[in-house]
Amino acid sequence: DGMVDARDDLTPMLSQYFERCAEYEDALLLFQNGDFYQTYCDAAEEVARVCELTLTQREDSTGTYPMAGIPVDNAATYVERLLDAGYRVAVAEQVERPEAASGLVDRAVTQVITPGTVVDDELLGTGTTNYVAAVTREGETRGVAAVDAATGECLVTSVGDEAGLYAELDRLAPAELLVGSDAAVDAAALAAAPMVTDHEAAAMDADAATETLSSYVARPDAVVAGDAERRACGAALAYAEWTQGDDGPLEYVTRIRRHDPRESLGLDSAAIRSLELFENRGAGASETLFDVLDDTACALGRRKLDGWLRRPLVDRDAIEARLDAVAALTDDALAREAIRDALRAVYDLERLAGRVSRGRADARDLRSLQATLDAVPAVLDGLADVDAESARLDELRERIDPVDDARDLIERAIRPDPPVEVTEGGVIREGFDDELDRLRETEREGRAWVAELEARERERTGIDSLSVGHNQVHGYYIEVTDPNLDRVPDDYTRRQTLKNAERFYTPELKRREDEILGAAERADTLEYERFREVRASVAAETDRIQAVADALAELDALAALAAVAVDRNYARPTFHDGGIDVEAGRHPVVEVTQDRFVPNDAELPPGSVSLVTGPNMSGKSTYMRQVALIAVLAQVGSFVPADAARLPVVDRVFTRVGASDDIAGGQSTFMREMSELTSILHEATPDSLVLLDEVGRGTSTADGRAIARATAEFLHDEVGATTLFATHYHDLTGLAEEYARVRNLHFAAERAEPRAAGSRPAADGDDVTFLHRVAEGPASSSYGVEVARMAGVPAPVVERSRALVDGAGPETNGHDEGVQVTLSGVGPDGVDRAADGDADADDEVDADLVAILREVDLARTTPIE
Ligand code: ADP
Repeated sequence: DGMVDARDDLTPMLSQYFERCAEYEDALLLFQNGDFYQTYCDAAEEVARVCELTLTQREDSTGTYPMAGIPVDNAATYVERLLDAGYRVAVAEQVERPEAASGLVDRAVTQVITPGTVVDDELLGTGTTNYVAAVTREGETRGVAAVDAATGECLVTSVGDEAGLYAELDRLAPAELLVGSDAAVDAAALAAAPMVTDHEAAAMDADAATETLSSYVARPDAVVAGDAERRACGAALAYAEWTQGDDGPLEYVTRIRRHDPRESLGLDSAAIRSLELFENRGAGASETLFDVLDDTACALGRRKLDGWLRRPLVDRDAIEARLDAVAALTDDALAREAIRDALRAVYDLERLAGRVSRGRADARDLRSLQATLDAVPAVLDGLADVDAESARLDELRERIDPVDDARDLIERAIRPDPPVEVTEGGVIREGFDDELDRLRETEREGRAWVAELEARERERTGIDSLSVGHNQVHGYYIEVTDPNLDRVPDDYTRRQTLKNAERFYTPELKRREDEILGAAERADTLEYERFREVRASVAAETDRIQAVADALAELDALAALAAVAVDRNYARPTFHDGGIDVEAGRHPVVEVTQDRFVPNDAELPPGSVSLVTGPNMSGKSTYMRQVALIAVLAQVGSFVPADAARLPVVDRVFTRVGASDDIAGGQSTFMREMSELTSILHEATPDSLVLLDEVGRGTSTADGRAIARATAEFLHDEVGATTLFATHYHDLTGLAEEYARVRNLHFAAERAEPRAAGSRPAADGDDVTFLHRVAEGPASSSYGVEVARMAGVPAPVVERSRALVDGAGPETNGHDEGVQVTLSGVGPDGVDRAADGDADADDEVDADLVAILREVDLARTTPIE
C-alpha cells in the first residue's frame, strides 16, 4: 500500500499487518484485534464498501489512516459478501493470548476462505457439496479432481476431450476452479460460473503432486490413472491444505475416489439444464426434479441423492441393487417411517467429522455428533424390521456402526448444553476429571462463602444496609453507606470511594477471592485441555465416523426414493434389451405443479426416430422430457412416474432444445444450436437417447427444414440412437414412409370438454385447449387452421386457409405455422416469419389475406371479430 509504505516508521502492529498481507498476496487479509477482524488503508476502504461498514480513521504515533472492522462473532455474513465480490479471504488470528504476550500479540493466518474451500456451515447450504476442482491437460486427456473441504470428499477422473470436460465440470458444479497454464477452461460456459484461480505450472507439477498424494495414500498410482489425474488431484489437495492453514495433509480426506465417466449415465450440460434436474429455467414453475425427489430426512441423504442424480448408473446389477432396496422400503411403510424418523435426528456427520478432524469442532459439535450416533440404534432397529430381501440393505446393516467408544466418551465428557466458547469453562462434565472437580469445588465453596458473607457481616457490624458485591475491576467488596461508616470494623480495608458509600475488603475476603479466581482460571484451562483431548480421541475415529456417515446417507437417499415412490404412485421399472416401453408415463415435475396431468404411453423401439408434431403448447416437449426423465430416474435406482416401464439401460441422454426456448437471439443462438447438434451427431451411440426440439429454427425456413431432415436421416441411418424429434416442419412426417424406423407421433388440437354447469363462463379463446394426449401418426397438416377455427376466426377465413393448405400440399407448404395462434399467456415463438423467405407462398396467395392472418392476435379477439 503506497500511502503506508511511503512512511518510514510503522507501528509494530501495522508492520505485522503488512507482513501478513504480503504473505497472502492474492487474498484479502482480516487481522484479528480482540473482538474484531480489522483491515487498514486501501483494504479497509474496499471492505467498508463491499460490506457496507463504516470506515473509521485510526490514529497512532505515525499518523492517521482508514480502518474497517468486522465483528469476529458474526464474521460469516461479511465473509460471504467478500466472497461474492470475488475475494479470497485470509483470516489472521491472534495465536497467543494478549495477557500472555510480552509485546505485540502474534497473529498467523489460520485459514484462507475461498468460494471452493469454504468449510463454515453458515456459508454453506445444508446438504450441498462445495467443490474446488482442478483441471490439467496432457495431450487430449484432461484430468479433473474435486475436493469438498468441508467433508473431505475427493474425486478424480479424466476425460478425453473438451466436451467431456465441460460435461464433467457441469456435473461437479464446482465453486472454484484451479486451472493450470496448459488447460484452458472457459468458466463462463459453465452453469455454476465458478471463481477461477490461475495456477502456475509449479503448483500443478507432477512431482509435487506425487508428494502431496503420498501423504494421503500409500501408493498414489493405485488411485490415479496417468499424469493428468495425478497433477489435478495433487493440485486440488494442496490448495485445500493451503486454505485450511497449511499444516500438512487434511486428515479427514480419508479416501480418494476415482471414477470413470463411462461408468455413469452421461448427462451433458445441455441435458442437465434442459431436463431441469437441479435448476429451473422457466420463470413460472419453481420445482426441479431434485426438489421432487428430495424427501430426505437429513443433510447426509440430501447430498447423497444429489450425487446420484448427477451420476445415474449404467451397470444393470448396480441399478437393480438400488431398486431392490427401494422396493423393500416401499413395501414396509412402518419400518421405512421408523428409519426416516430416526434419521431426522442425524446431523451433518460428514461436516462434523471434518471439523473434528481439523480441530475446529466446538463442544456443541461434539454433542451433535453424539446425538447422531445416539440415533443409530433406532435406525438399525428400523432396518432390522424390513422384511423384504435386499442385499444392499443387508450390507448397510453391516456398515452402520454406532462408534460406541467415541459416543460414550463424548457423553461422559461433555455437558449436555455446552457454550459455544470452549476456553471459558462450562464444557466438561462433573465426574470426568478428578482434578477439575476439585478445582470447581474450591471455586464453589469460595463463592458460597462469599454468598453468606453479607448476612454474617450485617450481624457482626449491625449495619442492615451493608451489602456484598462484585465488579470486573475491583473484584469482591463490602459496601457501606456513608451514615454507617462509624460502625465499620478495624479489619476492613478501603477499596473504592463512591458518592454516598465506601467499598471495603477484608483479608479473608481477599484470600477467598484469590482462591476463587485461581481455581476458576485453572479449571477453565484444564477444561480446555480435556476438551481438546476428547476432540482428538474422536478425531482418531474419523474413518469410522465417515463410514457410518456414508452408510446413513445412502440409507436416507434410498428411503427418500421409497417415500416418493409411495407418495407419488411410482412404479418399479424393469430393464430389458429392447426399446423404451412406458405405460401411462407422467412428467415427474409437471405432474406436481399441474392440477390434472394427462399420462401418456411411450413405445420407442431401439434406434427409432419418432417425429413429434402438434401445435405449440400441445405438450410435445413435456412428453419428450418425461421420457428422458423416466430413463434417468430408473438409472438412479428410483421408481418412475408411470403405470409400468420396461427400459433399456441408456448410456447417454442428449438434448437439443429449440432456439425459441433460448433467451438470446440471432446468429449466435443458431451457432450454438448447431454446435450442440454436432456433438450429438458425433457422440450418440445406439444406446443413447436423443431429444431434439425444433432443430433448425434459428435460420431460414428452407435451411432449417433441410438441416432438420438431414439430421433425422443421419440419426436413423448412421447413429441408430433412440430419438424423439419435435418439429414444426410438417413435411418431415413424410420420412416415415421412406424409413423403416421413423415413426410419427402427434398431439392434436381439440376443443375442450364443455365446462361443468354453473362454472364461470369461458373467457374469449379459452375454449381452445389441448388434451395433451399423444397419438400415432402425424398431426393434421392444417392443425394451425384447426386451432384458428376453434379460436373463433371467421368461417370464410378458415375455409380459405384450409383451401390454401390443401392446394399447396405438404411439400410447398413450408410453414405449417403460417397461422400462428397466440393463446392467452403464450407469446409467439420469437422467429420473424416475415423474414423467413416464404416468397413462394406469398406469390400464390392473396397477400392481403396473409397479412390479415398474421396480424390476428387471438388473445385479444372476440369470436365475432
Ligand atoms: P409444446 O412443447 O407442444 O409447445 P409443452 O410441452 O411446453 O408444449 O406443454 C405446454 C403446457 O401444457 C405446459 O406448460 C404443461 O404444463 C402443459 N402440459 C403438457 N403436457 C401435459 C400433460 N400431459 N398433462 C397436463 N398438462 C400438460
